[in-house]
Amino acid sequence: MFDYHVHTSFSNDSTMAMEAAVERAIALGIREIAFTDHAELNVWRPEDLIMDDMFDIDVYMAKLEEMQAKYRNRIHIKIGVELGLQLEERERIEQLAFSHPFDFIIGSSHTIGRYDLFYKYLFKEKTKEEAYERYFTEVLNIVKEMDCYSVYGHLDLVRRYALGEYENIDFNGDEKAMIRDILKIIIEKGKGIEVNTSGFRYGLNATNPTKEVLEMYKSLGGEIITVGSDAHKLEHIGYRIVETYELLKDLGFRYITLFHKREPKFIKL
Ligand SMILES: [Zn+2]
Ligand SMILES: [Zn+2]
Repeated sequence: MFDYHVHTSFSNDSTMAMEAAVERAIALGIREIAFTDHAELNVWRPEDLIMDDMFDIDVYMAKLEEMQAKYRNRIHIKIGVELGLQLEERERIEQLAFSHPFDFIIGSSHTIGRYDLFYKYLFKEKTKEEAYERYFTEVLNIVKEMDCYSVYGHLDLVRRYALGEYENIDFNGDEKAMIRDILKIIIEKGKGIEVNTSGFRYGLNATNPTKEVLEMYKSLGGEIITVGSDAHKLEHIGYRIVETYELLKDLGFRYITLFHKREPKFIKL
């Protein structure tokens, strides 16, 4: 088992110590773990607070190298980051991605027009169709313009926040067509997607993206795919990953992907 999406106390929304996460992963029989703490540049939150929400990069790198050395014989530890992708901050984001020796970068859309999705501004006075169109247009523009990531994180994250806002959060035909366009570009550019199992914890009772999107990715020829728990707590590490491998196998995927110095490596399922 490999967990390719784990946060620690280097992320604002987690208090998990990195050592404890590594020990837990070893206990679960995980062979490789990628730490992917949050880096969101210039994100807007309530009271118009504009900030860079990220760890001290030098301290983070040093800590991960220390962990790699300490646990060398017990588990592979990869240096990753979950990078909030925003066209508004393109230059600084690319600078951050390319100036540090990351093994793996999850590119995620946590903001729309700089606003953190978490606060649900996206849905204000919008129908579900309008909100989804805005969200997927943003993702489409990002995948057209930006290449500083390994896999796109939880591609349909909008579903997590739309839950409770609308009666039906499923994709209609127009939305599926937009997702198809996004996936085509990701594939053409040699990038991948992640399957994020946290949807099971957030009440979606499904992975992000959904099985339907994963099927589309497969049918378009998508091969690069990582699986991660998006753990922010010890008990989330490895969560539903084995079941997700089974799901991917059922959908016809033969490999999952690991990354070393941003190069993909395929492991047979
Ligand atoms: Zn995320
Ligand atoms: Zn995450």
